[in-house]
Amino acid sequence: MNFNLFNLFKQKRRHKKKDESTLCLVLDSVEKLTSHATKLVFQQPEVPLYYEPGQFLTIIDEVAGKKLRRAYSLCSSPYLNEPLAVVVKRVAGGKMSNHINDHYKPGMQVEVMPPAGSFTTNYEKSQKRELFFIGGGSGITPLFSILKTVLQQEPKSSITLIYGNRDVDSIIFKDELNHWREKIISLASYIF
Ligand SMILES: Cc1cc2nc3c(=O)[nH]c(=O)nc-3n(C[C@H](O)[C@H](O)[C@H](O)COP(=O)(O)OP(=O)(O)OC[C@H]3O[C@@H](n4cnc5c(N)ncnc54)[C@H](O)[C@@H]3O)c2cc1C
Repeated sequence: MNFNLFNLFKQKRRHKKKDESTLCLVLDSVEKLTSHATKLVFQQPEVPLYYEPGQFLTIIDEVAGKKLRRAYSLCSSPYLNEPLAVVVKRVAGGKMSNHINDHYKPGMQVEVMPPAGSFTTNYEKSQKRELFFIGGGSGITPLFSILKTVLQQEPKSSITLIYGNRDVDSIIFKDELNHWREKIISLASYIF
């Protein structure tokens, strides 16, 4: 098994220019995944957003009179033709995560910075890789985007996932992971 994650996710020269401007996305749906985590699905913007699995959106919002910016990994995959989506998990005492979980509704406009981040890889049908992922809680979101893309795009590649959570009810993407499970060679779920 190839454990060379540094090679896999090494900093890549991106062909897109760095863009600091913000844009407005409209919320299509807001779904409670667990008692502490909400999935935000955005409507397709007029000009489709370019992103890679593993990248994140930065949500900008005013909370208690202060403009805040927080990063949320995209859990959707552009290769699977899915609408843009992120999952926001409440952090005890956290400003933005609780604000989003309490107040975001379908139809709302959300200010974001364009997708960013170099925790990505490339996908080739002929590629045969053995990938090993370890994540906990909301850390599953970028992994989920990458792993389903690999499973769909690279029939010869295989995946092992170790995923830790506090309890069964707090497992984000429990059903979705079960759906992909037959294609994942090994899925171990740990409860802390
Ligand atoms: C690249 C990246 C991707 C991410 N992806 C996701 C994702 O997919 N899903 C997700 O849910 N999160 C993700 N995060 C985390 C997310 O960006 C936020 O950090 C998280 O939601 C907490 O933000 P908050 O505003 O709710 O908390 P904050 O208000 O920033 O507070 C964070 C913690 O600090 C404590 N705190 C705040 N101020 C003080 C103080 N003055 N003194 C002492 N303690 C204090 C709070 O009580 C809380 O426990 C990601 C982060 C990064 C960097």
